[in-house]
Amino acid sequence: MKSVIAIHGGAGTITRSALGAAQEREYLDALEQVLAGGQGILEKGGSALDAVTEAVVRLEECPLFNAGKGAVFTQAGTHELDAAIMDGSSLAAGAVACVKSIRNPIQAARAVMEDGRHVLLVGAGAEQFAIDAGLEAVTPDYYFTQARYDQWKLAQKSHAQHLLDHDAQSLMREAAPLDPGTKMGTVGAVALDAQGNLAAATSTGGVTNKRVGRVGDSSLIGAGCYANNRTVAVSCTGSGEMFMRLLCAYDVSALIEYGARTLERACQIVVMEKLPMIAGRGGLIAVDRLGNICLPFNTEGMYRGHARAGGPRQVAIYG
Ligand code: ASP
Repeated sequence: MKSVIAIHGGAGTITRSALGAAQEREYLDALEQVLAGGQGILEKGGSALDAVTEAVVRLEECPLFNAGKGAVFTQAGTHELDAAIMDGSSLAAGAVACVKSIRNPIQAARAVMEDGRHVLLVGAGAEQFAIDAGLEAVTPDYYFTQARYDQWKLAQKSHAQHLLDHDAQSLMREAAPLDPGTKMGTVGAVALDAQGNLAAATSTGGVTNKRVGRVGDSSLIGAGCYANNRTVAVSCTGSGEMFMRLLCAYDVSALIEYGARTLERACQIVVMEKLPMIAGRGGLIAVDRLGNICLPFNTEGMYRGHARAGGPRQVAIYG
């Protein structure tokens, strides 16, 4: 079995003209560095679960992406983070939502999974659980970045409710009026290890200017994150409300398991056919039990990358 990892850093209105060459390089370098971390674990015979955890921790630590440091702002000017992780070998899963003080929400999600009593913890209870598990707590200013603050201010001015992170970025650069129907920017990783085990992890600050208490698809097992050794590991990014209504991550798995679709076809049905029917925008990354990779999106771009153990690392942004 050839182990493989794929990552994403969110989808949205990401165009060459809006991004610029220097920033493009910055994103590609960051994706490459994240991918190297996950790939290194797989090459040493590590588990898919460890590889996706490492990749998502690195994405959370990178201020370019909307998760951990660099998370977007809520309507109230605060940060509320969601994350989920799933082990395809046991169908064990853990998630946290609306956490405001945990440095790496994906580690909190993993601690919930390993504890095993619950799948999803929210708010103060999730934070206390993470601290009891020995995870690092931070003050709210830790998540602050000027870029997301400016995005939020612009969104507030235009009365735009929850904008996808990369759409907000692009609109800022083009100084176009904000379209409240556009949104995004989340991170995720999926992997298959040498033992044939699949794992998926997703982490996000949510959508810019979201209501306090809003939870998206990222922390919901089956919506924004899913892994099952019988089928596939999936991590999603996009307009969370639509991904929730379609249970996108699980739907890819179900199309393979019950519909006998190939990975490619299952992903195409969900991202290119079903999501657009309810104006769902975004994409997903998927690795199936045979090590096939599919990284579809229905937006202008999606920060993404993949690598096989011992192979070259491929990173990309645009369609
Ligand atoms: N899906 C995320 C959410 O709705 C946002 C994103 O992917 O950018 O919270």
